[in-house]
Amino acid sequence: MQLQAYLLVHYGEVGLKGQNRPRFIDTLVRNIQERLAGLDVHVDRKRSGRILFRLGPEARWEEVASRVQTVFGIAYFARAWRVPLDMDALERAVLSLLPAKEGISFAVRARRANKHFPLNSMEINRRLGAAIAQATGWRVNLDHPDLPVHVEVLYKEIFFYFRKIKGPGGLPVGVSGTALNLLSGGIDSPVAAWRMLRRGARVLNVHFHGQPLVTRASEVKAIELARVLTEWGGSPYLYSVPIGNIQAEIMRTSPPAYRVVLYRRLMMRVAQELAQREGALALVTGESLGQVASQTLENLYVINEVARLPVLRPLIGMDKEEIVAQAERIGTLELSNLPGEDCCTLFTPKHPVTAARLEDVHAIEAQQPWDRWVQEALARAQRIDVRTSPVDALQFWPDRADQLLKSRA
Ligand code: ATP
Ligand code: MG
Repeated sequence: MQLQAYLLVHYGEVGLKGQNRPRFIDTLVRNIQERLAGLDVHVDRKRSGRILFRLGPEARWEEVASRVQTVFGIAYFARAWRVPLDMDALERAVLSLLPAKEGISFAVRARRANKHFPLNSMEINRRLGAAIAQATGWRVNLDHPDLPVHVEVLYKEIFFYFRKIKGPGGLPVGVSGTALNLLSGGIDSPVAAWRMLRRGARVLNVHFHGQPLVTRASEVKAIELARVLTEWGGSPYLYSVPIGNIQAEIMRTSPPAYRVVLYRRLMMRVAQELAQREGALALVTGESLGQVASQTLENLYVINEVARLPVLRPLIGMDKEEIVAQAERIGTLELSNLPGEDCCTLFTPKHPVTAARLEDVHAIEAQQPWDRWVQEALARAQRIDVRTSPVDALQFWPDRADQLLKSRA
């Protein structure tokens, strides 16, 4: 029997807000199609809360499954097969695809969207279960079967599948508007971007670096990190902004303890101009309360003061270990751990202030040419497409080639 295989996708967060549902589904379909481009997988139909994609002869399931696992908005998915609305056809098809194993347990789990089908779910379970038991000698274990057999009876057809694979959850990227993430070369900010993507935001990145006074290392890291984020639906566009000269001026004209806070205020000011160009309605950072000196509430308050846009900090309540574990799962940790000269390490004082005072900051800034600095940084900002920018990370970290290639694969 020649059976057509499908990718069956169940989306999450539904009972979604009524009118948003079609947009949610269309966006999800588009995101899945983009992610599976070139793999011979074709959108087929949207039925009763599921999306079905036909798997062509070239589609390799492992590859398809590993990519689908990075598309937000999917609750779970499976490789499924289709039969007509007919119990005999279902039995024959299921029996023809059972694995040749001895002595395992199984359970049939039927669901009916179509209540006109002559058998109800219990009856389907019993009848298909009896046929499987008879053909294989397997025993039934309803709670922890080695092989679950899922059956979904729809209005025009029946789908069945064996393994249900958990998706990444969240909302499809694109349904929640656009945000601009401040991406350093560190561990935290890529995780922050990922968390925003998971909630359906379109996320662009901006990276500030100390060029021309430092090497390109941190910029290259940011490009590589943004590239990994594109695998989760992140935007391929990265603003790369050299601020080395401005940092040097800030250094000459500010008390050492205040420099870090001033660099951050510079980043905020520049980032929100870029956000405006991109129609982004929020900035995102990887700040976590109390993690380092610049992340006390006092300093967040002072840094935030220059922001017109909301500054979202999805990691604010997370511990470092949780963030690190998440970075590892996302695939950014190894890149973040590469040594690289951050703009801020070069110019960071030994004892940054932990409770900056706004009056002091205002007094310092009153003597400084902030409009010029912001305009200069904006004039030097480059919008890079990380999909087509040259891969020069290997040049910087040749001894980490294995790691880098792995994170790219
Ligand atoms: P990360 O691990 O993300 O670098 P961090 O723990 O090093 O964070 P900070 O250096 O205080 O913390 O930076 C706080 C946040 O400010 C970062 O998470 C990031 O969003 C932003 N940021 C810091 N440096 C840069 C930079 N060079 N370019 C862009 N954003 C930056
Ligand atoms: Mg950092």
